[in-house]
Amino acid sequence: MSEEDSAGPSEEGLDPPDWEKLRTLAYRMVDDVIALHSKIGDRPAWQAPPPEVRERLTESPPAEGRGLEAVRERYLRDVEPYPFGNIHPRAWGWVNGTGSTVGALAELLAAALDTNAWGGDQASVYMERGVVRWAAEVMGLPTTTSGIVVSGGSTANLIALAAARDRQAGEPDGPVRERGLRDLERQPVFYASAEVHNSVDKAAALLGVGRDYLRKIPVDDEYRMDPAALEEALRADREAGLCPVCVIGTAGTVNTGAFDPLDRLADICDREGLWLHVDGAFGAVAALSPDLRPLLRGLERADSVAFDFHKWLHVPYGAGCVLVRDPEDHRRPFTTPAAYLQGLDRGIVGGGIDFSRLGPELSRPFRALKVWFPLQAFGVDLHRRLVEQNVRQARTLASLVEEHPRLALAAPVPLNVVCFRFVAPSASDDEANRTNREILMRLQESGVAAPSSTILRGAFVLRAAITNHRTRRDDLVTLVEEVARIGEDHG
Ligand SMILES: *Cc1c(COP(=O)(O)O)cnc(C)c1O
Repeated sequence: MSEEDSAGPSEEGLDPPDWEKLRTLAYRMVDDVIALHSKIGDRPAWQAPPPEVRERLTESPPAEGRGLEAVRERYLRDVEPYPFGNIHPRAWGWVNGTGSTVGALAELLAAALDTNAWGGDQASVYMERGVVRWAAEVMGLPTTTSGIVVSGGSTANLIALAAARDRQAGEPDGPVRERGLRDLERQPVFYASAEVHNSVDKAAALLGVGRDYLRKIPVDDEYRMDPAALEEALRADREAGLCPVCVIGTAGTVNTGAFDPLDRLADICDREGLWLHVDGAFGAVAALSPDLRPLLRGLERADSVAFDFHKWLHVPYGAGCVLVRDPEDHRRPFTTPAAYLQGLDRGIVGGGIDFSRLGPELSRPFRALKVWFPLQAFGVDLHRRLVEQNVRQARTLASLVEEHPRLALAAPVPLNVVCFRFVAPSASDDEANRTNREILMRLQESGVAAPSSTILRGAFVLRAAITNHRTRRDDLVTLVEEVARIGEDHG
């Protein structure tokens, strides 16, 4: 202690005493990644973590470190076998991307750089602007469009609707932002179809508009918003002294992959002076394909668009994007002066701390890198072909279902989502729901395939959303055979 008395306690850090030893372990961890991805199809699509694993995972960290090697072994034993399953070739539940090895490596590099991507004069800022400009071009919005890479579609919807609220409710400079909603003379109202994603309900709640004032407009037989019903709702609300603010069109509904008639919605918004927001979490990515583009007619007229990189572009979670046509509108809700965040004429914050004015986050990870890396490495054309491939596969699955005597489609298949059921000839509605629920749980528990479910017009249906670059035709044949087999076994 006597030495320390004069020099103080010895100093420490998190860098290793032996870099070569760390290098060996780090290479081994890269090998783990390659082993995982290259053999992913041999594993179950999903398996539940056993009780002892759950127990270990919730333990508090040790006072004395175990060392990287021991932690890696724990990871391989307790974590790697038990993910959600979405990187598996037969995972089609909800809407999940498959990620990629290239994306995972980019994540490693982004974490290694550990840059704060909030703004300033650094590479991440220019790269993110490039990613946003490319996305705006794909969606048909002007190159001057503002945007930011966020955690996902839910945050993207929230940011876009904050911008809509602050431009439309109250005077141009936004008494809402300053004084909240209390002083507004008229209650703001949002409009979306009955099939809208629940992140929009959350946004209505968080923005103080209230979920009662998110009007759910009825849909037609193909689950698309009925524009005549929208016009009727607008008329009724104006007569009641409310303030219509924004119409949310969905490009690719989560239930069935339906597209609202965006062009008709844009006409109505033009005429009524309303903001048009498009939630295209996965569906907007169809804009890459000239063949699918007609589904999105009118997207280019939107005031804002939300979509995900981590779904149909297979960027590792979490990466979504919001685009706002007018940069002033985008900044309005999020610009608030702070002495400690001023830009300077030169130096690190020479460009200003810009991304912090485009959303609620201040410190931000370098999400753009894991978007940019795969796009650069694979190119845009491959991503387009993968989207088209999934759409073809959805049609294949739909045909296999239609051709099978015990299976039936439960909704049209406009894109990549296939809803279907096992049908037992004399089953009641309740029995049919029970059978299909049982089929789904057994499918998942067996690890053979992992679709999900939804309720359509009161019926429990199996649902495969194919946003998966690893899926092959045989995987869909297996799904159909297994559903029929389990159904017959159970029924
Ligand atoms: C997934 C999804 C969202 C939410 O996006 P997250 O990335 O999960 O936050 C919103 N809308 C639709 C249509 C979606 O499919």
